[in-house]
Amino acid sequence: EVRVRFAPSPTGELHLGGLRTALYNYLFARNHGGKFIVRIEDTDRTRLVEGSADRIRNILSHYGLKSDEDPWQGGSAGPYTQSERLPIYAEHAESLIDSGHAYRCFCSSNRLDLLRKNAAREGAIPLYDRRCRSISTEDARKRAENGEENVIRFIMDHQEVGFEDAVFGSITQRLEESDPVLLKSDGFPTYHLANIVDDKTMRISHVIRGMEWLSSTGKHILMYKAFGWSTPRFVHLPLITRDGKKKLSKRDKDAFVDYYDKEMGVLPQAVINFLVRNGSGVKDFDLSKLYTLQELVELFDVLLIGRRNFQLDADSLSQYGNAAFRSASDRELIDLIRGRVESDLPSTYVNLSDEYLKKVIVFLREKEETFAYLSQLTKGQYTFFFTRPKSAEKILSKFSSEIAVEALDRILESGNWNIDSLKGVAKSLEIAYPKLLSLLRLSLIDGTSGPPITELHNFFGEKECTNRIRQMRE
Ligand code: GLU
Repeated sequence: EVRVRFAPSPTGELHLGGLRTALYNYLFARNHGGKFIVRIEDTDRTRLVEGSADRIRNILSHYGLKSDEDPWQGGSAGPYTQSERLPIYAEHAESLIDSGHAYRCFCSSNRLDLLRKNAAREGAIPLYDRRCRSISTEDARKRAENGEENVIRFIMDHQEVGFEDAVFGSITQRLEESDPVLLKSDGFPTYHLANIVDDKTMRISHVIRGMEWLSSTGKHILMYKAFGWSTPRFVHLPLITRDGKKKLSKRDKDAFVDYYDKEMGVLPQAVINFLVRNGSGVKDFDLSKLYTLQELVELFDVLLIGRRNFQLDADSLSQYGNAAFRSASDRELIDLIRGRVESDLPSTYVNLSDEYLKKVIVFLREKEETFAYLSQLTKGQYTFFFTRPKSAEKILSKFSSEIAVEALDRILESGNWNIDSLKGVAKSLEIAYPKLLSLLRLSLIDGTSGPPITELHNFFGEKECTNRIRQMRE
């Protein structure tokens, strides 16, 4: 049975690479009729960020990556949050002591610091000197029972380990580390122990994750062996880079999923196509097509994932953003737009009825060839759908107040917005026609560019236009 997992650490905002890992696990699971599991890896207590597990949950649901087992709905292999599984790790670490693959270490942190400093002075890799290996199991048990602080270490001699990776092929790693810690003195497991115990007890068949974990895999293989377990298959996904080489840094805004959703307002389907286009894995991928999640599920094949690094390609993102906006249902757009406007523009003047939002959507679909980003509705050029111009500042930087008031008065008087009549007003005031249009535009939408005046007039209707102009001329 295919069972795969997405195992994020709740240590902050989800990285774009995290979303890709989740997506690929999902596509693989669905393609094989298997299960997609979400596990929260929160054993590194110092790096926890409050609320980030819930954010991850919301992101997965926003992108339609529905899981079968996870901390929120549970499942047959739970709990799915590592901090709730401490007894399981302790029991497994102790079983490795019993089988002679691990031992208790009582070295103080002072001693370990000293070892590290000595190594650093000699320019060597700091390695644990394995002193506690020589303590007999019996003695160690007694000392632990007497409350002496200890960690459990894995017996790992320097050696070569080989394994197969579905993307990177046959890999041989030389393990230089010495006797890594499995269980810390506070009862928390290290990442490595928790990760493999969970993959085993959750019956994970394929480990699909970012290639930054490739270097840990050799060590994991030895741990599987020590337990007497078979290993899952490994699929490591290439790095996400900007230029093909450099890894995306945590300082880059576009390294985080939130940026695409919250800041740019790209529809989920666009982000998913963007990830797959640049990440490969889909049969006969057609660059000009916008795939649905279901279509990607059907065409997904792990063996087609290339080793080439993923490159962020902003052009394809806006292309997909645009296509996704065109093909999204009104219902989906209405809900998304309402959510954004409510959170980003709390003091909007309109009633955000389905009817009004539908009108906005029709306007954008008809007039805007390349509308890709919902953020333009709340911080970009399309805020005017929901807010009225607030000050005449921009007008007064271009026009004297007498001219502006006079011109707006005449437009209101004429009550007519056709070209001839507007040209007439411009002429009577001896100002250039384009200048008059720019004044009008500033009064209507507080912007110097945007849709033609007549289209704004059609959209808002006479009454709203008059209101806006009145407000400006006061
Ligand atoms: N908790 C690890 C992470 O945050 C997951 C590693 C894995 O998938 O094995 O990336």
